[in-house]
Amino acid sequence: MEIQYDLAIIGSGPGGYEAAIRAAQLKLKTVLIEADKLGGICLNWGCIPTKALLKSAETYALFKHAEEFGLHAEKISLDFNKIIERSRKVADLNSKGVEFLMKKNKIDVIYGRARIGNRSRIEISTKDGKKSAVTCKNIIIATGGRPRTIPGIEINNQTVIDYRQAMSLSKLPKSMIVIGAGAIGIEFAYFYNELGTQVTILEMLDSILPIEDREITAILTKNFKKNKIEIHTSARVEALKNLKDGVEVTFSKEGKKEILSAELALMAIGIQGNYENLGLEEQKIKIDRGFISVNQWYETNAPGIYAIGDIIGPPLLAHVASHEGIICVEKIAGRATHPLDYDSIPGCTYCQPQVASIGLSEEKAKATGQQIKIGRFPYTASGKARAIGEREGLVKLIFDSKYGELLGAHIIGAEATELIAELGLAKSLESTAVELNKTIHAHPTLSEMIMEAAGDSIGEAINI
Ligand code: NAD
Repeated sequence: MEIQYDLAIIGSGPGGYEAAIRAAQLKLKTVLIEADKLGGICLNWGCIPTKALLKSAETYALFKHAEEFGLHAEKISLDFNKIIERSRKVADLNSKGVEFLMKKNKIDVIYGRARIGNRSRIEISTKDGKKSAVTCKNIIIATGGRPRTIPGIEINNQTVIDYRQAMSLSKLPKSMIVIGAGAIGIEFAYFYNELGTQVTILEMLDSILPIEDREITAILTKNFKKNKIEIHTSARVEALKNLKDGVEVTFSKEGKKEILSAELALMAIGIQGNYENLGLEEQKIKIDRGFISVNQWYETNAPGIYAIGDIIGPPLLAHVASHEGIICVEKIAGRATHPLDYDSIPGCTYCQPQVASIGLSEEKAKATGQQIKIGRFPYTASGKARAIGEREGLVKLIFDSKYGELLGAHIIGAEATELIAELGLAKSLESTAVELNKTIHAHPTLSEMIMEAAGDSIGEAINI
C-alpha cells in the first residue's frame, strides 16, 4: 500500500536533511528525495571539502614558517593530488554521516529527480529511467543553487571553471584569475596562492568581500597583497577568450578596458536557484529574480508547498538553510516557533587571516542614522595571539551609544570564525558593551579580545 507522507522534502543539503530530522522528531512521517548524493553542495562540494583543502594550505603555510617556532622543516613539498584526495574523502564521510542520520531517524530516502505533480503528489524519476511517486500532505523544496556565470561566458570546465572543478583539479595550475571576491573567490584565492599558484582577483565592487566592514577588508587586502595576490577592485569582467594554453579575461576598470591572461579562470560571481523542472509553473509558484518567493514561515503562494535555503535567495548560507528548515517544519507541525532574525546571522570566510562578522558594519550602522560607539582590540595586543604567532588581526565591535547594545561585530585574524559565536549569542540576547566587558573570559585566550574590545568602546580596555 502506498505510504501517505506528512512531509516530502526535495533536496538533502543542510536545509533539507536537517528539516527532515526535525520533522521526524515531531513525529511527521517524512520522505527525503535526492537526485545526487546526500548532503547537497555543502557537504559534497562546498563548506566541508573546502575546509579540508584550506587545512592543507594552512598546514603548508605553518611548515613554511617553522623557523619562527624554533623548528627546522626542510624540503617541504606538497602533493596536490593527495590534498584533493583527502578533501574528497572528507566529503564522502560526511555524506555517509547523513545516510546514518536518516536511518537513525527512520526517514525514508528516495534517490531520483523530483517533480511536483500536484500539491500532494511528487513524481520521481531515477537515473536509470524508472519512475515512481509519493503522496504527501506538505512539500518542502530545498533544491539549493548552482554557480552563476556572466552572460555569454560558458563554464567549460577546462579553462573556465567553477567551485566544483576548483575543488577537484588534477594538477596545480600555474596561474588563476579569480572572478568575483565573495566567500568562494576569496577562499580559493587564498588556497591556490598558498600552494604556489599565481592568483589575480577581479572584483566588480570597490572592495574584496564587499559585504564586510571596510576596515576589515582593508586589512585583508593588505595581507593578500603582501602575499603576492594581485587584486583589482572596481573591475567588471566582460569577456573571456580561450587561448591554446589558457584563458584571456577582459575587464573594465575606471572606464578603461584591460586584459589579463592565466591558465585558468575561476567563476565565483554568485549563485542562482535550482528552480527549473520541478513543476513550479504548473503550480503557479511565484519566482522572483531566480528565487522562489515565500512568507516568513517559508510557505510559497501555493498552500502546503514550502521552500527553504539557497532556492529562496540570500543570505545563501548553510546555517541559514538549516534554521529556515527547522522553523518551517515546526510551523507545519503546529509547534510554536518564531521567525528567523536575519539581522543576526554570522558570516564567515575561511581564508587566512579568517574573516567573520555578524550584524551591521560601521558603514551600515552609520547609515541608519543612530549614534554608535566602536571598540577595537588588535591581535598584536593579545598575549595569546602573540604566543601562538598570530599577531595580525582585529576585533571591532559596534554598539549603539544610547543603551550600549551590540549592533555589529567584525573579526579578522586567527580563529575569527570560531570567536564570532560568542557575539552571535550576545547579539541575540541584546547584550551590551558593559555585559561583554564584565563577562569573565579565561586567560590566556583569543576570546579575551572580545571583552577588551567591548571595554575599549566604554574607555575601559585594560591591555591597550
Ligand atoms: P558572492 O555573491 O558572495 O560574491 C560574488 C562576487 O562577484 C561579488 O562580490 C560580486 O560583486 C562579484 N561579481 C559579480 N559579477 C562580476 C563581474 N562581472 N566581474 C567581477 N566581479 C563580479 O558569491 P560567491 O562567492 O560565488 O558565493 C556564493 C554564495 O555562497 C554566497 O552567498 C556565499 O556567501 C556562499 N558561500 C559562503 C561561504 C562561507 O560561508 N564561507 C563559502 C562559499 C560560499
